[in-house]
Amino acid sequence: MSILPAPPAPIHLLDLAAEHAALQPALDEALREVMDAAAFIQGPAVGAFAAELGQYLGGAHVVPCANGTDALTLALMSLELPAGAEVIVPAFTYVATLEAAALLGLKPVLVDVRPDTFNIDPAAAEAAITPRTGAIVAVHLFGQCADLEALKAISARHGVALIEDNAQAIGATFQFASGETAFAGAVGEVSTTSFFPSKNLGCLGDGGALLTRDTARATLLQQLANHGQSRKYHHQRIGLNSRLDTLQAALLRVKLRQLPHNTAARQAVAARYDAALAGTAGIAVPARDARSTHVFHQYTIQVTDAERRDDLQRFLKGGGVPTMIYYPLPVHAQPAYAYLGYRAGQFPVAEQLCGSVLSLPIHPLLTVEQVAYVAQLISGF
Ligand SMILES: *Cc1c(COP(=O)(O)O)cnc(C)c1O
Repeated sequence: MSILPAPPAPIHLLDLAAEHAALQPALDEALREVMDAAAFIQGPAVGAFAAELGQYLGGAHVVPCANGTDALTLALMSLELPAGAEVIVPAFTYVATLEAAALLGLKPVLVDVRPDTFNIDPAAAEAAITPRTGAIVAVHLFGQCADLEALKAISARHGVALIEDNAQAIGATFQFASGETAFAGAVGEVSTTSFFPSKNLGCLGDGGALLTRDTARATLLQQLANHGQSRKYHHQRIGLNSRLDTLQAALLRVKLRQLPHNTAARQAVAARYDAALAGTAGIAVPARDARSTHVFHQYTIQVTDAERRDDLQRFLKGGGVPTMIYYPLPVHAQPAYAYLGYRAGQFPVAEQLCGSVLSLPIHPLLTVEQVAYVAQLISGF
């Protein structure tokens, strides 16, 4: 009495080969142009891509760099904080968010996240502010904006810089109570993003960028990302060698044109999951903050009975449905950050989420039938 059909077609967590196949002629041409011009470092495609991405994100300055982790390092360097300054970060995030602060000799201060949106809890962030606080890093996790209304107000009230780690929410927007709408990344003093291949705007290797509305800061970031030099062999400050390859910039120009379509496709997949999974006992679909659009870097459900999360993951795997757990451990449980001295139980929401979240396949090419199949398996379980 088998009731479940086989998957309509093999289901992947993401399908970059198929996405790139559709863009192949344009990608080939971009590659060929860079090969022909042989300007592999700081070639014309880098500036062109920065300008196009800036335009897409509402006119802010974009400073490309080598990856999203370097972007966080550069963002913090641009704030010129004193050694040991505190940087408030969410306890539920990818580790790069605080790695940069730790490497710079700054002190990561963890705060818990909201149980509904998984994003940094503004009240907890405000409570963690001390005279030594230099910045708050808000992560727009899984594709939805953190509470930028509250965070912007806290940042202004305490004179503490707001950095947005926008590696997962490129193109998302947030509507303020004033009626004004802003792109994720365009609200804080400086924000960062990643073009790691699996991100919503991914290159074919490593890449990253910073975003700022402040022209002086954009110049500073440009220098910091290129050995602190103002012009060749003239070094104003100690910087990094963190440039976006011309080749990646050229490929990103092609992929950026596809981004609005891909975002809409991800949102359509999410809406189908929402509809198919609504009312399914034992799971919660991702909560939406009405003020933010959601670009669904991940579609992350919560399994109410955390004991059964890993069973559900195995069951889905058996049915040909790959899933991921982002993230299995909160930051304070990582051995590398034991030195911060946090204890188990200190960030209960982050800890609870690590035990209950499950990210389902979501990418622009996932079909209606595939989504229905995944939802059917989950309901069956
Ligand atoms: C991917 C990611 C990063 C790091 O980006 P890389 O390009 O891999 O260095 C940082 N923060 C978040 C939230 C991410 O998802």
